[in-house]
Amino acid sequence: MAKISINLKEGAIKKDENIVVGIDLGTTNSLVAYVQEDKALAVKGKDGKNTLVPSIIHFDKQDVIVGDKAKLMLVEDPEHTIYSVKRLLGKSYEDIEAYQQNLGYRIIDQDDDALVKIEVDGTYHSPISLSAEILKYLKKRIEEELNQEIQKVVITVPAYFNDSQRQATRDAGKLAGLEVLRIVNEPTAAALAYGIGLSQEEEKTVAVYDLGGGTFDVSILNISGGIFDVISTNGDTFLGGDDFDKKIIEFWKSRYFSTREDFYTDKSFYQSIRIQAEKAKKMLSTSSKFTTKIGNQEIQLTIDEFDDMIRGLVERTIESCKMAMEDAGLSPKDIDEVIMVGGSTRVPLVRKSVGNFFEQNIHIDLNPDEVVALGAAVQANVLAGKQEGVLLLDITPLSLGIETMGGLMDVIISRNTKIPASLAREYTTSVDGQKNLKIGVYQGERDLVEHNRKLGEFILSNIPSMPAGIPKIQIQFILDADGILVVKAKELRSEVEQSITIKSQYGISEEEMAKMLLDSIKNAKSDMTVKALKEAVNEGNNIVVNSERFLRQHSSWLSDEQKNKMSSLLGELKEQLKGENKDLINQAMTRLNDYSAPIAHEAMDRVIQSSLGGKSVDKIDT
Ligand code: AMP
Repeated sequence: MAKISINLKEGAIKKDENIVVGIDLGTTNSLVAYVQEDKALAVKGKDGKNTLVPSIIHFDKQDVIVGDKAKLMLVEDPEHTIYSVKRLLGKSYEDIEAYQQNLGYRIIDQDDDALVKIEVDGTYHSPISLSAEILKYLKKRIEEELNQEIQKVVITVPAYFNDSQRQATRDAGKLAGLEVLRIVNEPTAAALAYGIGLSQEEEKTVAVYDLGGGTFDVSILNISGGIFDVISTNGDTFLGGDDFDKKIIEFWKSRYFSTREDFYTDKSFYQSIRIQAEKAKKMLSTSSKFTTKIGNQEIQLTIDEFDDMIRGLVERTIESCKMAMEDAGLSPKDIDEVIMVGGSTRVPLVRKSVGNFFEQNIHIDLNPDEVVALGAAVQANVLAGKQEGVLLLDITPLSLGIETMGGLMDVIISRNTKIPASLAREYTTSVDGQKNLKIGVYQGERDLVEHNRKLGEFILSNIPSMPAGIPKIQIQFILDADGILVVKAKELRSEVEQSITIKSQYGISEEEMAKMLLDSIKNAKSDMTVKALKEAVNEGNNIVVNSERFLRQHSSWLSDEQKNKMSSLLGELKEQLKGENKDLINQAMTRLNDYSAPIAHEAMDRVIQSSLGGKSVDKIDT
């Protein structure tokens, strides 16, 4: 808790140097909160009115304006006003091409950078630097409130944010002059805001339904002994209150402005329609009818009309809830609490549908716009060391692994593993004297890396010359609490080491993630066939290398018959390896193995015998 003490001698307020604050960097609104006297508080602006800062940036001739004033400029000067920037964080032009027409500003894709940029008057801004402007504004706000400089923060992100989106959020913090102590998942923060999980004895399963302006996610958390464990997540980064607004806009267009050709192209007209649509939606959370005027045209909307137009969208969120529950292996009766997060959960149809699905009352006591920031403040307080015994765990949504021989995906950290996590596996070389090993890192569920997403690659070089199969190469994946991956490769005999931190160029959306998962299920059978063949080929190639080495090393005592027979079986195997029939490859391997196993045993016996001065293994045993 942030305590303020007064130095009576000097009459000065002693500041709490060890203060960490929580920031919810939202698609539509952002806010900052801190803990005082054990209570989380969202900070209002100087006017004492709003805790919410619209996540909108306006470029004036000289200044950068953020928040309410920038929101006003959406109508007056949409060309210089940027909103929904969180949707673009860590994304490429391709990712958002289809969405571009709904933005009032110009998005460009420069050749030298795969990440999207926004053009304002010939100047290019990255979503990171724009997010940093919002963070700077929040930094100033909390500094004015607490009358001291603030640097340490916790920033929340949607549960589905991938590593590059998390990294982009971190970078935005750094650019704003902040030290980001932790990136926390929004649902985890929401549970913390309700104080759930702060007591060691508590055991609960919680569903967090978060419908903001631009993103939706649902997370199922298991909370036990002060540990927060996200057991499943589902959602859609392209679904939120903005889409409700769009439905209203379309409805009004067809009802009142069907002949107006510049409906979308007259930017300031379109933006004023947008603002009225949002107003209508908000009003319909507490009334049954909305009426206003745009120009001379009176426009209306009733709650029944609104419910009808958004029913499909709300249903999509319920489908996500179903999938999250299925993934968690739970049914509604297993859920102890349902927490509602995000401004759009004020919509009556949303509340009703979620309550019906989970068959229980839902938590709406805290302001749904502030819940995440309040929870971030609680987490910040924990990190400041002011609240002991609370740990946070999350999960990784897709498997992480490396490419092995034949383009196979070898999973090192599997999907739904709790993070932070550190897992390692041992590999070896496939060629005698191999000096370098290329390590390709992939994310996804398919058996072949070509179907998965490449995150990066690096080369472990200077491996001392050894026969194939002898080097022991340990590959370690370290996934930190923010979902950032470090991959280390080490040849254990020589201690040669190499590592990389994976900051992928740009992220993948939930749609892509869901597609990757679906594809892996759809193609499971054919993937397995290809995998079995590749594995047989890998094993066959290893046997060929080892057998050829064996023939070379032991030719002095092997009989001609043994040499000839082994060579011919080897030839048969090599022939089969050129084909694509795994059964024939396996049969050829078995024939070679069956014939050479007793010879190999004899060879081993001879080696031991000579090193023991003539005694055979059998003689020692008896
Ligand atoms: P967030 O991203 O959590 O800040 O959510 C903001 C979204 O909530 C925007 O789409 C708002 O229009 C919406 N919203 C805010 N207040 C209300 C309300 N009273 N009724 C319906 N939607 C609201």
